Amino acid sequence: MKKLKVFLPALFLTTVLLAQQTSLSFKMEELTSPKFAKAVDLAGGVCVIPLGIIEKHGPHLPLGSDLYESREVAFHAAEKEYAVIFPPYFVGQIFEATHQPGAIAYSNELMWKMLEETCKELSRNGLKKIILLNGHGGNGSFLQYFCQSQLAKQQDYVVVMFRPGNDPVNGPEIKSLKKAKLDGHAGEEETSMMYYINPALVDQEALKNESGLDQDRLSKLPFGYTGIWWYAKYPNHFASDVNTPNKRLGELLITSDAGQLAELIKFLKKDNTIQQLQEEFFKKTHD
Ligand SMILES: [Zn+2]
Repeated sequence: MKKLKVFLPALFLTTVLLAQQTSLSFKMEELTSPKFAKAVDLAGGVCVIPLGIIEKHGPHLPLGSDLYESREVAFHAAEKEYAVIFPPYFVGQIFEATHQPGAIAYSNELMWKMLEETCKELSRNGLKKIILLNGHGGNGSFLQYFCQSQLAKQQDYVVVMFRPGNDPVNGPEIKSLKKAKLDGHAGEEETSMMYYINPALVDQEALKNESGLDQDRLSKLPFGYTGIWWYAKYPNHFASDVNTPNKRLGELLITSDAGQLAELIKFLKKDNTIQQLQEEFFKKTHD
């Protein structure tokens, strides 16, 4: 009994701490201000911004599909490795969908400022390791340029774009489940992910209304890139041949990315190499 008396306070404290930790939501918008301060500590200063967009996703998926998909990946990752997940973020590059109903395309200046100031505000709140989790194909060049531009001026935070890679565990099953030969925007993978997240949001009937096939209307352009390339190929803003939702495929795609994102979160929590290299770089820049 004596021993118990000695160990009880420690055990009690551990239990309370664990309870406090597990009661902390990883969704920033759900946290109270005092709990947010605890969440910043528990996350080791790591915040994930899942970036989506509001745009047409074929005739059958919701406008916010990229938002649902990137956030679902972030939620699964944060369950494995705690990080603060930024609220729904849908400001990004989407000029190529403005001919279709439902696109919300902000100006270049605004999309840049929104992301820059969001990062600064996160840093001011102690979240100095920021992961950009891109759910929208059209954001790729913008986000990479945003990361490159972090070297233009010294900041007290770091920005890392999540880049999923090969998954030797889930990859073979993912490959075996896929039926489509053409699988791009709003295609088999996205349809399956949305079906896994919420099947009620997939309008399978509408699929027969539009073609997602490549119309290849700029095939004569030699050795050139132009902004209208996407519209030339996919004017319906839909790139897909076979598109039957597969819940298991959707689940695997999300959990596979989430596993890799959790690894990135874990690494950034413990490792300060990026900060150190940036400091070294800027010291040399200003010498
Ligand atoms: Zn999408």
